[in-house]
Amino acid sequence: MCVNSCCAFVGVLENETKCKFCKEDRYYSNGKARKNLPFTSIIERLKLQFKNPERSKELLYRHNYTCNKGEFAHNNIGDIFDRQIYQELLNDEYFPDPRDIAFTASCDGYQIFRQKTDDCWVFLFLNNNLPQELRVKKENLMVTLIIPGPKQPQDFNSFLYPLIQEMKFLQDGISCYDGNKEEQFTLRANILAWTGDIPALLKVLCLTGHNSYSGCRFCNLRGTLNETNRHVYYPL
Ligand SMILES: [Zn+2]
Ligand SMILES: [Zn+2]
Repeated sequence: MCVNSCCAFVGVLENETKCKFCKEDRYYSNGKARKNLPFTSIIERLKLQFKNPERSKELLYRHNYTCNKGEFAHNNIGDIFDRQIYQELLNDEYFPDPRDIAFTASCDGYQIFRQKTDDCWVFLFLNNNLPQELRVKKENLMVTLIIPGPKQPQDFNSFLYPLIQEMKFLQDGISCYDGNKEEQFTLRANILAWTGDIPALLKVLCLTGHNSYSGCRFCNLRGTLNETNRHVYYPL
């Protein structure tokens, strides 16, 4: 990635030797990259988890929850799987295998340096196939990608590239070993929902931000410029 965190050298930028935003060199003179993107594979971690018989059983929570929901519980929201969107995905033949994983992805900006803007972006995956009491435990949160900053990324999407590649593999299905059933199977995983703070979601959705004229992610309401302090507002 660029030494100033402008972009990751992936996809169409794969062969670049200079950052197209800040013109900094990608490599040292000895050919080594000046900065690497911190990324941890989701696929490898899922494979490791399914290999373990105990964990493999725990990962059946989604299946067990949706199968054992009583008649009375039908209109109650007890978990993410009670939302209509999950039912719609089931109708579209997503999650055919009890082991298929439903993720919640989150992206948040963190201020870890003494600056006023968000400077470090963390992508975290929550595995909804785990029971609720285990799901948000520190050891079960899957940090997959960190955009380290301290400068604002210029091409935010380029950093997502390795993550999107893995999710594409997981959508089609990968070969995985189930330590509980002692069999090889095709594992699929999909993202059920994205969460995050507003500045982060704006970046994921390629929006311009809450100080711009078209800052809303739901409608086309246009902001007005306050001449005195040169800020765009949404007076309501
Ligand atoms: Zn750069
Ligand atoms: Zn709006």
